[in-house]
Order: sequence, then structure tokens, then C-alpha cells
Amino acid sequence: MSHLDTLTVHAGREDFGKLGVHAPPIDLSTTYPVADLAVGTASFDALVGGDASAPNPIYARLHNPTVARVEQALAQLEGSEACVAYGSGMAALTALLMSARMRGGHVLVVRPLYGTSDHLLVSGMTGLEAEFVEAGEIATRKRADTVLVVIETPANPTLGLVDIRAVVAAAGDVPVVVDSTFATPVLQRPMELGATYVLHSATKFLGGHGDVIAGVVCCSEENAKVLRQVRAVTGALLHPLAAYLLHRGLPTLTLRVERAQHNAGILAQRLAAHPKVARVFYPGMGTVAGDGLLASQMRGPGALLAFELHGGHAAAAAVMSRVRLITPAVSLGSVDSLIQHPAGLTHRVLDEATRQACGITAGLLRLSAGIEHVDDLWADLEQALDLEQALDLEKA
Ligand SMILES: *Cc1c(COP(=O)(O)O)cnc(C)c1O
Repeated sequence: MSHLDTLTVHAGREDFGKLGVHAPPIDLSTTYPVADLAVGTASFDALVGGDASAPNPIYARLHNPTVARVEQALAQLEGSEACVAYGSGMAALTALLMSARMRGGHVLVVRPLYGTSDHLLVSGMTGLEAEFVEAGEIATRKRADTVLVVIETPANPTLGLVDIRAVVAAAGDVPVVVDSTFATPVLQRPMELGATYVLHSATKFLGGHGDVIAGVVCCSEENAKVLRQVRAVTGALLHPLAAYLLHRGLPTLTLRVERAQHNAGILAQRLAAHPKVARVFYPGMGTVAGDGLLASQMRGPGALLAFELHGGHAAAAAVMSRVRLITPAVSLGSVDSLIQHPAGLTHRVLDEATRQACGITAGLLRLSAGIEHVDDLWADLEQALDLEQALDLEKA
């Protein structure tokens, strides 16, 4: 079972034959009978200490078999020893930062990042001092108390690529986390490039159907132990029904990502040729930071693109209000296409200067291509952009 297409279908389901089932069992128990106290106590110690499982799950905040099953599946897809799942991508990042805080106080961060990730790091809530640097500055800005390097590639929302291998080399013995949400394991496998942690908002492509909020961190078993300790104490659990839905989405992951990527590539070309569009950000078109890394660390440019309209904020707002098939909404990686305005929504929490520095302008829209027929998507975008032209004529 070495091919990813096969793994997506079968990972975390290896024991179905033995169990005599054909879909993952859902275990909703909050607590588990402890008939043998010695076994119970040993299990409690093991789970509180961060073990992946124990003879008795004890209490659902410590362990849930349905969650553990999808964690095993995702570890296989990401090529990591372990995976720890949380109630959201932000809960996963928070747990990771808290686990880093136990080792020291300083993190190096390469912008841009998902808006709320940026906000969490700036807020000081985790007790960490976040220093924002360029990828090329990591080696010189590293300190004795630096405990983590945070990067996101492709980055939200302008799709810039960060050189994972180079960051890992510059970080030396400092662990590196790669938020690989935009890429999924279909297009990028950061563990193979030396990353210590791979983070996903599983709300996006992994879930894939817009109906589950989840987050995961893939890493070594040693690091996963600490992440499970944090999860057990802070209670940032993934609910077993959400875990089931997440697992439910995985068999089609490759198909969804490839089809959505196909659509995004065509839409990027057509948008680039449209008179209302000033600039298209899509890896491989020579328009994003680190564009040359596409060939060396990714298997494809992905399903996300951003484009800047000549008409600024008003034009962007007009397109958001005029799309009919594409849903004007935040989030991404769903089977249906979503369009949103980073400056007004996802990256609202950044200050204006940071937004500008990250290229998040008033006329920028981010599009997450779905798996619909590309001509229907293009027809929708074209009419939305044309209506905006009509609006200009009205005003003139
Ligand atoms: C959505 C997102 C997150 C946060 O995940 P949630 O599941 O919404 O908490 C983090 N990173 C990236 C790149 C995202 O797109």
C-alpha cells in the first residue's frame, strides 16, 4: 500500500476485516468502565503521559478510538510516525505553541500566514515572543531560547512559496512547523523535506466538504506525546463525529485536489487575460514569491489562487456580491468553489501596514476552486466581472 491514492482509500481501515465492518465505527463514549483498577491506573498514567493508546481509554478527553483511527490514517498520508487531532486548525496550532512554550520563549515566524495564526502569534496569548523574519534571516536571528520556526507554504492568501529545505537547514536543531493546509499531502510532504511538524487545518481539503472543523499536527511519536499531553490537559479535542466525517472525506482526497487544481490552473490563465484583473497570484505563473520552488518541493500548484482587481475594494465587493455559482465565503478546500476578500475578512486582524507588506490589497480576492466544471465556474466569474464593468458604465 505505498501509493498515496491507495492509502487515502484504505488508511485507518486496516482492521475492518477483523472487525467485520466496512465503515469506521463511531465511539461516542465519554467514559469507560474501569473494572480492574490496576489496569485503569496504568492506562490513566499512560494516556496522561501522552501515549497514543492504552488498554482502557478511561475518559474521552484522554483517548477516543474514532479519533485515533483518523489520526493513524493522516500520519500515513503525511509520512509521519504520528498525528494528533484537535477541534480546529487553530486549536492544533495553539497546542503546538504551548508545547513549544514548555521549552523556551522565542519563535521565528515567516509571513504571510493565515490571519488568525498571525493574530495568535502577535497576541502574546501563548506566552511566546514571536519575531517576524524573512525566510533568509532565520539562521542569523535564531537565539538560544528559540524553540520553533513557523512557516506556511503555499502561504495564505497570496500563495507565496517558502523553501522548506532551506528553512530546515537554517533552523538547525530548532524544530520547524510547516502549515501545509493549502497543499495537502497530495501536493507536498514536508516531513520528507525535514520538517519537524506538519500542521493542517483539516477543515479545508482534508475534510473537503465544508461540514467539519478540525486540525491536525503530524510529527514523530516523541513530539506527539507532548502534543497529546497538551490536548488532554487543555481539552482541545476533536469530536468523534467530526473525526468520522474527516475520515469519510479522505478516500476522495487525491481526486478532489487534482480536479480542483485543474480548474484553478485554467481559471488563473483566464483571469490573467481579463481586462478587469490587474494581477493573478498562482504558483507556476511567475507571479508569486518563491515561484521556482514549485518544481522542487510540490507536485502541483494547488487549487487556490488570488487575483487583484483594478477597481480596488469596490470592484472586489461587487464581484463578491455578484457571483451566483461560487459561494462568497471564507474557508477553502471544499468540493464547491469559494471566493473571499482577505483584507475585509480572513486577514482583517492584521494591521494595515502588515497587510500591505504581505500584498493583501483592497482589490485582492482569494478563490478556492472546487470540483465543478471549469466552464461553469468561468462563466460565473466572467458575469460577475462584467456586471462590475456595467456598474462602472452606470457611474460614468
Ligand atoms: C483555516 C486555516 C487555519 C485555521 O484552521 P481552523 O480549522 O479554521 O481553525 C490555519 N492555517 C491555514 C493555512 C488555514 O487556511
